[in-house]
Order: sequence, then C-alpha cells, then structure tokens
Amino acid sequence: MREQQILVTRTSMPAMEEYMKEIAPLWDSHWLTNMGVKHGEFKSMLAEYLKLSSPENLDLLVNGHMSLELTLQAMDLQGEVITTPFTFASTTHAIVRNGLEPVFCDIDPVTFTMDCSRLEGLITDRTCAILPVHVFGNICNISEIGRIARKYELKVVYDAAHAFGEEANGTGVGNFGDASIFSFHATKVFNTIEGGASCFQDPEMGARLYDLKNFGIHGPDEVSAVGANAKMNEFCAAMGICNLRHIDEEIEKRKAVDERYRLRLEGINGLQLKCIQAEVKQNYAYFPVLFDEGEFGASRAEVFAALERRHVFARKYFHPLTNRFSAFHGKYKDDETPVARHVSQRILCLPIYADLDLETVDEICDVVVNLSA
Ligand SMILES: *Cc1c(COP(=O)(O)O)cnc(C)c1O
Repeated sequence: MREQQILVTRTSMPAMEEYMKEIAPLWDSHWLTNMGVKHGEFKSMLAEYLKLSSPENLDLLVNGHMSLELTLQAMDLQGEVITTPFTFASTTHAIVRNGLEPVFCDIDPVTFTMDCSRLEGLITDRTCAILPVHVFGNICNISEIGRIARKYELKVVYDAAHAFGEEANGTGVGNFGDASIFSFHATKVFNTIEGGASCFQDPEMGARLYDLKNFGIHGPDEVSAVGANAKMNEFCAAMGICNLRHIDEEIEKRKAVDERYRLRLEGINGLQLKCIQAEVKQNYAYFPVLFDEGEFGASRAEVFAALERRHVFARKYFHPLTNRFSAFHGKYKDDETPVARHVSQRILCLPIYADLDLETVDEICDVVVNLSA
C-alpha cells in the first residue's frame, strides 16, 4: 500500500526559483511590510483577476478572518447579523467578536448556501446586515439576497473564502453585495501562505478598513481609529504574485479531479455530489459528498474509517455547525437549522488538489464504491 498520506488538500506552490526571484529585491530595499512594492503589484494583479472595476475596490490583509472581522467593523454595524451555521468558525466568530448578534438562517439542501425563503422571517428591527457564505464555491442566491437587503436597508457582506476567482454570469464574485472577503490561507485554492482580501463598493468604507488594518493611523500626525494590525507583508504578497501566474492551470488540474470523481460516483444510490451551478465559473476548491446511510448502505463514519485505513484523510466539513460550538454555551440551537444539521451529519469532503493524481482518485472511489449496497 501507498506509504504517503493523502490529505483533503495540498498547498500549491510556485517553483522555488520563481519565488526567490520575486523576493530578491527585498534584500535591496529592506522594505518587508507596510504596503510596499510587492503589496502594490499584487493588489493590481488581483483586482484584474477578480474582475473588479478598480484596485481601489480592494484591500489586502493578513488573513481571511481579519479581512472579515475588520470589514464588519468598518461598516460600523449594531444589532443582529443573519448568517448560516454551515461554515468555518471564522464567519460566526467575526460577527460575535464585533459585539454583534448572529442569527442563524437554515441552508438550501442542494447548494448548502443560505435558504433565502427563510431570510425575511428572521429580520427584526435590530437586523443590520446579512452575512451569507459561498460555501464550497457554491454561489449564494445573489439577486434574492440583494432584493431583500434593499427592501430592509441591510448591508450584505459575503464570505467568499471558498469562491476565489469564481464568476456568476461573467461577473467576478467580489463584486456582489456591499463587500466580499477572500482567504488566501495555504489550504485554499489560491494562497499567499497566509493572507486575505476584502472587496467593497464604498470607498469611504475602504478607507476605514485601511485604517483598521494599520492601528488606525490615518496620516503622520493622526490616529483616527482604534485599529488592529492586519497588514499583508511583502513575502506573502510575493507568494501571491507567483501563485496568481499559475492559478488558471491549477484550477484546470482540479477540474480533472472533479470530473474523475463525477465519472466514478455519479448515479450511485444514496450519494449526493457537489451541485453544479450552470451560470458559475467554478474553482473546484472542494469535493463534498453527502452520504445517506439508508440508501447508500454505509454511514459517513464508515466511509471515513475505510478511507483512513488507506491513509486517505477526508474531512467532515462542516461539523459541528457553528451554532453548536461549546464556545457559545448552548446559546444557539441547531434544531432551528434542521437542514444544516442534516447535511452536517452526513457530509464528507474528499481530497481534491491540483496535483492529486487520477489513480489516487480512482483508489478513493474504489473504497466508496465497495461500501455501497
Ligand atoms: C478559511 C476560511 C475563512 C478564514 O480564512 P483565514 O485566511 O484562514 O483566516 C473564513 N471563512 C471561511 C468559510 C473559510 O473557509
């Protein structure tokens, strides 16, 4: 048997020489952080890749979480924020850490994104914003969320951490809502080692965000906000520049993995594969599969264990739901989000990354197929 462990993801890296060449000028300038040359170059390249109207609609930060937390802070919100519990800890934590109250909306059973038919029922006179997640790169119902937000005058911030480079009907996802955040963590489709970005419509909000990522320092003689430190450094920006050169090839390779999984697993009773949204240009970041034990013949736990015996480590994303975190001491209940709970109990993300070879994908599929009734 293969000695090597297969994890759910593996970080894409440029050739070492390419990165060395990119960072070499830093040994001349001695300018390692604080919005240096690489930061500026990367920001322009990224704005173009994400199809934003201008680099002015974008800022770079130390990671995805701080991008989200400080974007919410820059909006100066108060009260309740409607979100979904089927997400990474960061989404809910960003709300709570801003002194805001999360209100959990259930998810759609096919896309796993916010179920907009339940959204209006959760709006109160304390609601200030909606924070939906393009989970696994499945794009939320943008038009319906926009319609409801306009009707009730709410801000919309998308957690687009999973949706890097995606487009819906030709529009880059970073253009939706009042703001969208991306994560460039090493485990994501596109990485800057650690890093993140916020895309926004309102330049004044962007200026506040810029201040918040740099201690609130607004000029040589003015500190206008109690800011944090969440700047992206030059080494991370240089990694971003290198990785962005290769991102389209990397996504193509992921696509081949996605297609192989579909070829082998489509049509098996009791399996629900990641949905395909016809209008979306995908990034193939994840390959989630929902296992219905009754129909399929084996539980998620059995599939997980069978893969583990072959040194393949699938992940239970997202389990537990954020509204079940012990951090909240039972304040929120997952029985208010039954679809999210159902999905969270049955889902497994199978390994997918650019250099996952198709033989390994076949081996993983063999394990799954052999468990089916
Ligand atoms: C990864 C992730 C984040 C946080 O990004 P970091 O760069 O790790 O801070 C936020 N939301 C979601 C949905 C994520 O998957």
